[in-house]
Amino acid sequence: MAQIVLKSGRERPIQQRHPWVFSGAIETIRGNPADGAVVDVLGPDGAWLARGFWSSQSQIRLRVATWEATQPLDEHWLRQAIARAVRGRASLMSDDETACRLVFSEADGLPGLIVDRYGPYLVIQLLTQGMAARDGAVIATLVALLQPRGIYERGDPEIREKEGLPVHEGQRRGEAPPEHLTLRPITLPGMGGERPALLADLRGGQKTGFYLDQAINRARVGAYCQGAEVLDGFAYTGGFSVYAARAGATALTLIDSSGPALALARANLDLNGLATPAELIEGDVFRILRQFRAAGRRFDVIILDPPKFAHSQAQVERAARGYKDINLLALQLLRPGGLLATFSCSGLVSADLFQKIVFGAALDARRDAQIVERFTQAPDHPVLLSFPESEYLKGLLCRVW
Ligand code: SAH
Repeated sequence: MAQIVLKSGRERPIQQRHPWVFSGAIETIRGNPADGAVVDVLGPDGAWLARGFWSSQSQIRLRVATWEATQPLDEHWLRQAIARAVRGRASLMSDDETACRLVFSEADGLPGLIVDRYGPYLVIQLLTQGMAARDGAVIATLVALLQPRGIYERGDPEIREKEGLPVHEGQRRGEAPPEHLTLRPITLPGMGGERPALLADLRGGQKTGFYLDQAINRARVGAYCQGAEVLDGFAYTGGFSVYAARAGATALTLIDSSGPALALARANLDLNGLATPAELIEGDVFRILRQFRAAGRRFDVIILDPPKFAHSQAQVERAARGYKDINLLALQLLRPGGLLATFSCSGLVSADLFQKIVFGAALDARRDAQIVERFTQAPDHPVLLSFPESEYLKGLLCRVW
């Protein structure tokens, strides 16, 4: 087996079970590992530290999958790790239509593997050389453990490109999911309440078809929307709007740049028998909020759930300006006493920085804003303590005066 020796002073993160070895931390490479191959990680003194998967083109040259010297990274290991991840979600799987992330990459000890369950179907993403090289074993394990009706693979071009992997999508096993699959989002154990049915396009939609990470936040924000005129910015398929309407919102304005997403949003409102007047606007949130401001429009609740603005450290400053801009606009559109539910899914923008950005927007808007709730990703996207990077979604609910 190939080995890498870490530079002096670079062993500490690995000793503390952080799973990434950057190219700059490697002193020597012994052997000539192929992409996806199993490689041992040795400290500068030659002591065995960890074992993981090689990736020759990524800045993250190796991703650790075990810290036990006697643990081979074979199919038995893969099966045990996937089974553990599935077991950890058992309390969230309330019925046959539940949509739930079953495997969340490094946070579940399976770097590069995403498995989303949508009722009887699985959608997988293989985002590292290590997982791409094991696609057959991953699929066989999922079939054996979960007997899905079908397994569909989605790519994530941005991540796969960094790994030197081509985009790779398609049906891998069994039946193809229907064009519009009906799912029910998870709720927190004990939270109860009837869950809406939502349609998702697993093959053509964004990510794996649905933003599972907002499942709990939609219910939480929705609960504040009784009697409210709600603006759902970056609405996608209307997840937040459906919860807002169910809670008694009096009017909805959904904005998204994707026409197909808005068509599904309309279908989702109809599917749940929600007759709330809904205005669906296909366009750019930045531009439309400016128009609303010029026209003097006001709202009681504004939700801002934009896509990732920062894809690299170099983009953080620009991303911060983008977040500040939309939050400033939203603050100016809120009636006194209204609520701003604002999110960032940029892992590179910390919760602390995000709060500072919203603070800056409130200063510029000359509005008092109070944080009444803080949000994070749903519990099927757990945060591994030794891997803080697995926490990427943050949100604030602010009462604005
Ligand atoms: N709130 C949604 C998820 C939003 S994902 C939910 O609960 O499911 C981000 C959305 O922003 C995507 O649907 C994307 O199409 C849209 N989008 C990206 N840039 C945009 C822009 N400048 N203006 C409007 N929509 C945009």
